[in-house]
Amino acid sequence: SDGPADMPAEIWEKIKDHPCYSEEAHHYFARMHVAVAPACNIQCNYCNRKYDCANESRPGVVSERLTPEQAARKVIAVANEVPQLSVLGIAGPGDSLYDWKKTFETFELVETQLPDIKFCISTNGLALPDHVEEIARHNIDHVTITINMVDPEIGAKIYPWIFFDKRRIHGVEAARILHERQMQGLEMLTERGILVKVNSVMIPGINDEHLKVVNAEVKKRGAFLHNIMPLISAPEHGTHFGLTGQRGPTAAELKALQDDLADGANLMRHCRQCRADAVGLLGEDRGQEFTLDKIGEAV
Ligand code: SF4
Ligand code: SF4
Repeated sequence: SDGPADMPAEIWEKIKDHPCYSEEAHHYFARMHVAVAPACNIQCNYCNRKYDCANESRPGVVSERLTPEQAARKVIAVANEVPQLSVLGIAGPGDSLYDWKKTFETFELVETQLPDIKFCISTNGLALPDHVEEIARHNIDHVTITINMVDPEIGAKIYPWIFFDKRRIHGVEAARILHERQMQGLEMLTERGILVKVNSVMIPGINDEHLKVVNAEVKKRGAFLHNIMPLISAPEHGTHFGLTGQRGPTAAELKALQDDLADGANLMRHCRQCRADAVGLLGEDRGQEFTLDKIGEAV
């Protein structure tokens, strides 16, 4: 089929079989995530480290943490049961590139047995420029970067600190470094022909208006999709925006922003913010069928 009218043919060619990018493919191809990367190098105000990273997954759920060997075993078990499996993603539960050894070790173990499978990763971008060469060496067509701001003053309200260059950095300085690394990583990937999707978490009163500027900046640097996700604020998730907490956008606010940006980037509206250990066709999650105790030593 033809892709969206505003999408170049060569990009559509790369994503048309990817369940997350193509409305059509998500009925026929399956994806799975494995949660091998628990550590993170930044603090988002909307994160609670007990749960999955909001980079890619619905926050507030706990994924099964796996070693690279366990993850590879699980992927092979799933591939035997779910023939549509086409994509393996690593989206946390922390940052896939801060824990890059575990991420790349998992890909290496899997690709020896499933050479056709495609990989994707999602990251906050801070460590991204250091790993672009290694990303290019694997079968990684797509990288997702979560970019919530391009203005460090706004960033300081979202990120209390980052851990960079072996030290903890706070405030506007931290947000400035994160912003520069995100833009550098995005440019390095697109220069090498690796597709980049940008996720943004819409936080009312903090970055909601600003996301239009983010949209223009990431599009200028070659991001092929910009996916606006709502902040999901639940008390048990423990958002840290001041004492009163921070609400998420209403469905109408989210749609209004997505409509506003429709000309600025191709938006992905069917992202389900899947769990970091989701398995199956999009919209279904068979993760509980493939927990380690169930696949046992059989593989
Ligand atoms: Fe949490 Fe993800 Fe932010 Fe890290 S990047 S603090 S895991 S939401
Ligand atoms: Fe696809 Fe789910 Fe990842 Fe969204 S969260 S990009 S729907 S796998």
